[in-house]
Amino acid sequence: MPMQLEGRVAMVTGGGSGIGRASAMMLAREGADIVICDIDDAAGQKVAAEVEALGREALASPTDSSDSAQVNRLVERAGKRFGKLDIVVNNAGIVSQATIRELTEESWDRTVAVHLKSMFLCSQAALELMIPGGWGRIVNIISRAAFKGRAGTGPYSAAKGGMLAYSRVLAVETAQWGVTVNNVAPGTTLTPMVEAGFPTEDIRAQEARSSGVITQPMRLAEADEIAAAVLYLCGTHSDHVTGTTLHVNGGTYMP
Ligand code: NAP
Repeated sequence: MPMQLEGRVAMVTGGGSGIGRASAMMLAREGADIVICDIDDAAGQKVAAEVEALGREALASPTDSSDSAQVNRLVERAGKRFGKLDIVVNNAGIVSQATIRELTEESWDRTVAVHLKSMFLCSQAALELMIPGGWGRIVNIISRAAFKGRAGTGPYSAAKGGMLAYSRVLAVETAQWGVTVNNVAPGTTLTPMVEAGFPTEDIRAQEARSSGVITQPMRLAEADEIAAAVLYLCGTHSDHVTGTTLHVNGGTYMP
């Protein structure tokens, strides 16, 4: 079978770890060249080397996805190297855990910036290299937290909800250029972001049970399962899909 993304170029924010890394590798295995936009240089370079080992091209440079100057610099380098960008996966993320009376302004601002502002900046910059090709895919990694309240996730959930609302606006604004905009909403997924919080198999099983996983075997999601949803939304089978959210959460939330 031919690869779905031969000749495509994809930028993955937070591509150095977890869901971003898994997405970068899955897109590369389908033929895409990869731009890694990760604040962690060592992690980004390591994934770039893994992509190159698959025979694809990769560009990684330490970049804060919430900083317009840094994003524009990376996108400019991508333009010089590849001449275009076809796909953006807005995935970079951080967690913050504080309820309303503990939450600081600084934590609120940083969390909202890393998720929501990054989506705006990276999509805006990438579109300039996407529009001339008349085809594009923007996929945002949001979260079950955009739909289901959980104490202590205030700015995170608010930012993910903002990404959901903004994705619908972007879908309408960019359709004229052949661009689709969709979201993937994972439930709890075993990545470096959450592994430390659920350090043992027993604790992970307990989290799967208490969050209401009904798929069998009952367990938390793996990063590759989220990446597979990203690939579907970037690939050749989703041309008619835009403005929507694919929930990968083991049945813990059904919209
Ligand atoms: P992860 O393993 O921590 O990976 C996130 C990557 O993004 C890290 O390399 C991180 O670098 C990088 N990053 C953080 N801030 C950045 C910034 N400002 N600019 C560029 N890169 C930045 O996390 P993950 O679990 O794969 O999460 C990926 C996305 O999935 C996030 O948006 C998260 O909210 C979402 N999500 C995750 C889960 C889950 O259970 N894992 C569930 C729902 C949604 P540092 O390590 O240096 O911070």
